[in-house]
Amino acid sequence: MNELKCPRDGRQLETVKDHGIEVERCGTCKGAWYEDEELGMLEAHAADEDSRRGMIDYAKRESELLCPVCSKPMRAFNYRASSLDLDACTEAHGFWLDGGEDQRVMHLMRERVADLQRAGSAQDAWNDLKRGGGKGSGLVDKFKGMFGGGPRRGA
Ligand SMILES: [Zn+2]
Ligand SMILES: [Zn+2]
Repeated sequence: MNELKCPRDGRQLETVKDHGIEVERCGTCKGAWYEDEELGMLEAHAADEDSRRGMIDYAKRESELLCPVCSKPMRAFNYRASSLDLDACTEAHGFWLDGGEDQRVMHLMRERVADLQRAGSAQDAWNDLKRGGGKGSGLVDKFKGMFGGGPRRGA
């Protein structure tokens, strides 16, 4: 991986270590080239393997940027259905992240982990409700108290 040029401004990319990953960074626009598996390594800083499952490239369309490796037009896409636009080589050479987009990737992955955890605990609560459901469930009584004629206490 030598002599790669920035797809935005043509400056020669420099190999730097970012988040413990060797990436090719542009000194002018601060964008960086992540090889195919290196994006997963970046995500791994914020999320475990389970949370990283699923599709990454949504709403794919042609990018105006050319792959620094093979010079073919890249494919722009919405990273994990978010508003973050990344570019990827169609030959799977790698991903182009503009300056700061590495931080956004990690931020989105952290949010994804939190969402999955929330969904998991909502599922647990639902299962508890179903298990305990029916008569005598404290939660059901509480709902009755809230919606049905108020607490019946005293005479
Ligand atoms: Zn650049
Ligand atoms: Zn390529």
